[in-house]
Amino acid sequence: MNTQSSRAYIALGSNLEQPVSQILQAFEALNQLPDSRLISRSSLYRSAPMGKLDQPDFINAVACIETTLTPHDLLEALLKIELRHGRVRESPNAPRTLDLDILLYNDLQWRDEKLTVPHPRMTERAFVLQPLMEIAPDCIIPNCGTVAHLLSFCLDQKLERVAP
Ligand code: ADP
Ligand code: MG
Repeated sequence: MNTQSSRAYIALGSNLEQPVSQILQAFEALNQLPDSRLISRSSLYRSAPMGKLDQPDFINAVACIETTLTPHDLLEALLKIELRHGRVRESPNAPRTLDLDILLYNDLQWRDEKLTVPHPRMTERAFVLQPLMEIAPDCIIPNCGTVAHLLSFCLDQKLERVAP
């Protein structure tokens, strides 16, 4: 890994077909991304579905990788991992075998039709902020402040740590 490498935080979520093992396998897939390595990963958490309520609970986690992939190449690579895990895209809040979202890429702020970084909904989701807090307690979300501050507005959202 050269000095040009970037640090990216990825949110993982699954609520179909053995979600815990989907997430554990996804950590391994992240570690095997080209020009990248897994630096750290959070515990696994269980959260209630949002938006569409009649579906199973989710298992969520956050991982940190070091990578020389560009943000768009990273997104492409994550979408390929989702497909390998049998992801089918239905409606935005539909149940899924694996969802991989780029939360942060260094301190990049970017928005186009394919990619928005920081991830636009991360600041209001305990299932993202709590695992992020676990592995990056000093993390600052560009334009939004510290992860701890943002998490303090999400304390009403039920979240249970289910596995290391
Ligand atoms: P969601 O994660 O919001 O439930 P999807 O996983 O179906 O929805 O993603 C839909 C699209 O969101 C992806 O094809 C991708 O192009 C786009 N997208 C925009 N910003 C991001 C990001 N930061 N991380 C992942 N996908 C993103
Ligand atoms: Mg997604």
